[in-house]
Amino acid sequence: MSRPGGPRPALLLLVPMLVERAAIAGAATGATIATTGVGRRRALAAAERGRRTPAAAVAIAGLCGGLTRDLLPGDVVVATAVTADGRGPRETITLSSGPLIAALRTHGLRRVHAGHVVSSTRIVHGSQRVRLAARGAIAVDMESAWLSGAAGGRPLAVLRVVGDTPSTRLRHPLAAARGLLEARRSLRRAVPALTDWARAAGDRHVLVASPRSFCAGAQRAIEIVERALDLYGSPVYVRKQIVHNIHVVRDLQGRGARFVDSLQEIPPGSLCIFSAHGVSPAVRQEANELGLRVIDATCPLVAKVHKEARRFAASGHRIVLIGHRGHDEVVGTVGEAPGAIVVVTEPAEVNGLDVPDRCSVAYLTQTTLAVDEVREVVERLRGRFPQLEGPASNDICYATSNRQDAVRAIARDADLVLVIGSSNSSNSRRLVEIAEREGCEARLIDDDTAIDPVWLAGRSRIGVTAGASAPQRLVDEVVAALAGLGRVEVEERCVGTEAFHFTLPPELSRAPGRGERVD
Ligand code: SF4
Repeated sequence: MSRPGGPRPALLLLVPMLVERAAIAGAATGATIATTGVGRRRALAAAERGRRTPAAAVAIAGLCGGLTRDLLPGDVVVATAVTADGRGPRETITLSSGPLIAALRTHGLRRVHAGHVVSSTRIVHGSQRVRLAARGAIAVDMESAWLSGAAGGRPLAVLRVVGDTPSTRLRHPLAAARGLLEARRSLRRAVPALTDWARAAGDRHVLVASPRSFCAGAQRAIEIVERALDLYGSPVYVRKQIVHNIHVVRDLQGRGARFVDSLQEIPPGSLCIFSAHGVSPAVRQEANELGLRVIDATCPLVAKVHKEARRFAASGHRIVLIGHRGHDEVVGTVGEAPGAIVVVTEPAEVNGLDVPDRCSVAYLTQTTLAVDEVREVVERLRGRFPQLEGPASNDICYATSNRQDAVRAIARDADLVLVIGSSNSSNSRRLVEIAEREGCEARLIDDDTAIDPVWLAGRSRIGVTAGASAPQRLVDEVVAALAGLGRVEVEERCVGTEAFHFTLPPELSRAPGRGERVD
């Protein structure tokens, strides 16, 4: 295992052409640069030499031909896989690309694509490029597949910059020359990201928190949208993000869901799903007036808080709702009794509360807050209002508190905790704060392409968890990204098990038959 403060890993940087080497001159600080020559035979010989060259990580960098229409000269391609076209080896070498993509973004490169790179024994144009694109490749070069052998088990990255595209030949020669110039500039700008990536190379112990990822409420809400799409077909409208996660939203969009901020955007008579965070009665009424067909994906545990708000409001209590103003869940709960609820976020706000009757005060909480922070606010409330009433059972849901216990368990032993979740996910943000309160640096990331390798340099114990709205798939990808930087030993720290399952609304509980559409 590499330890913090250990020797700085060195990068072996393989570039096929002298023109590429000239482009990166002076930009690859601390790297050993080798010019390999062009083509399969020279690449295989260079790979043999590379295997014997000491370095912690190996990268291949140079120009390439773009195969897909979205690529422009100067765009950076980070290989997720490389394959040889023509003479072997024909096996596909898969690569982890996330941290390198993050480093490229940090260095200001915006047009970065991740995908399959194919290496050809000859220059390819026209129909040959179409054939390679049909196999799923996005770029073609003449070396990477054979040069990959230089890694010899060390972390490997393949970074190519698009020099020409399928349409280059149709363009004016001057435009093509400009494209090449652009490509050389991008290559120079990209190389410092490779040296950052190489500094993160090292073997690691990965502590994975459990429970993590989807809660029963998020799972139910997503299943509601999926079933609605199966039963009723696209489009199915969803008011607000079904759960606060960009990957979930994109996946469902790909299947035909349309996310809207306002019901006014939905054509009358359409099917509308309310998100897991719940809505106010005013929104339900508006949907009714607009003639929308509604399926409610509000989490039953949020619905429980709504019910408590109605109960306390009916008995004349002033309700202090502990939560974050503007969060979808808080907006929905406030809407249950707008005149009776006041929102408080910080303990200090309790002192300024003005209530008509000090003996009739109750509190409720947003379901996704940090347990210890809420405790502090409630203690202050009790100090001011000794007859304070609260919910029959804790409003902070089981999934929130379990994930908080689990992140605490890994943060104590980690150099860095990666929390997977979107920036608008309340429960994910709380996980970051809790890890930080344990004295551990923590980062909120949407996925592996947000792992800046600079965070990892010199750190050998990495904690990984995911908020209740983030899919497990993203956890697997983050662990795979760490494995792309060296050997990983994965340890799951489990603080409890979860067996919650919420049933679907009755209109969706029957699975459709094959090809069946229900209107
Ligand atoms: S975090 Fe808790 S309240 Fe929110 S959707 Fe999940 S189970 Fe329901």
